[in-house]
Amino acid sequence: MAIDYAPLHTDPTLPPLLVNLYSDTQTKPTPGMKAAMMAAEVGDEQFGLDPTTNALAERMAALMGKEAAVFLPSGTMCNQIAILTHCRPGDEILAHETAHILTSEGGGAAALTGAQITGLRGDRGLFDADTVRAALRSKSRYSPPQTLLEVEQTANSGGGVVWPLAQMNAVAAVAHEAGMATHIDGARLMNAVVASGVPVKDMVASYDSVWLDFTKGLGTPIGAVLCGSQAFIGAAWRWKQRLGGSMRQSGIIAAACHYALDHHIDRLAEDHTNAKSLVRGLAQLDGIVPEPAETNLVFFDVTATGMTAGQLADKARAKGLALSTTGKYRVRACTHLDVDAAGIDTAIAILRDVLAAR
Ligand SMILES: *Cc1c(COP(=O)(O)O)cnc(C)c1O
Repeated sequence: MAIDYAPLHTDPTLPPLLVNLYSDTQTKPTPGMKAAMMAAEVGDEQFGLDPTTNALAERMAALMGKEAAVFLPSGTMCNQIAILTHCRPGDEILAHETAHILTSEGGGAAALTGAQITGLRGDRGLFDADTVRAALRSKSRYSPPQTLLEVEQTANSGGGVVWPLAQMNAVAAVAHEAGMATHIDGARLMNAVVASGVPVKDMVASYDSVWLDFTKGLGTPIGAVLCGSQAFIGAAWRWKQRLGGSMRQSGIIAAACHYALDHHIDRLAEDHTNAKSLVRGLAQLDGIVPEPAETNLVFFDVTATGMTAGQLADKARAKGLALSTTGKYRVRACTHLDVDAAGIDTAIAILRDVLAAR
């Protein structure tokens, strides 16, 4: 079966990139991060003998205010193992209709757990307590057992939007009352923490499991950490073993995560500032309608340019600017640690050229 991959790296005739706003996953490890990786103390992770990985799990559990944590290769594996651990075949998960687990994990919940996901509606990737209440089913032998509620902090497709704490707690309370577990997809959790000023422990307190990705804004090459109760993480470890996520000298990559915790959290504020200045620049361009930016994700509509998102992204890429497309007329630009204020100016100048050449 042919799969359409994004054209970012596939065409060798494309000019070199001047600004890469394709994704915050495109960052390269910094010299300081590489030095930390080279110096890592390592051992066999599968046997619990990698000191750097063990320390990362302890550090993350403490940071999130949870009993335990497990290091995994990716955020997708955190979500899938959390679903495998919380749910049984036939169960139902409630999540926003644009949630990554629903749209972007290869149908993993259905394929691996045998669970179905019901997509909830709501503006900008969020939903409210009434929407959760309305989605609750009677507990009968006809209904799928509803066992998990999931939220994304920040909501990616929603526009990098930060869930307000009260709303996050309110939807979790409805789920818990109904006997469901609660899970946070924290691909960009620290962006939410830095943007809102809410301490991370408070932000995740009413959720049973939560993970943080290190390969988004935090800039590491590999790694995510899933946190929860001792019993939950014990069961998650069995899935890690079964799925082949158990590693050996993983301290090499865990060291990059320690480095990111030390050096790359506060600076997320710069990414947010750059995203806001990108929005201001985009708003000046003919035919482009940006959504407001709360964190490091900027979405904009290009309908009025007369081009599709794909056409505009291709033309921008030919001039050295990488963007991603998330709909026929919706484009996404991500700021991250490899883009500075001058990069934002360059991006706007390239888009102005693209529009002038229409
Ligand atoms: C990127 C992302 C994931 C998956 O993380 P990987 O580390 O790329 O597997 C999950 N959820 C959201 C919201 C994401 O943006």
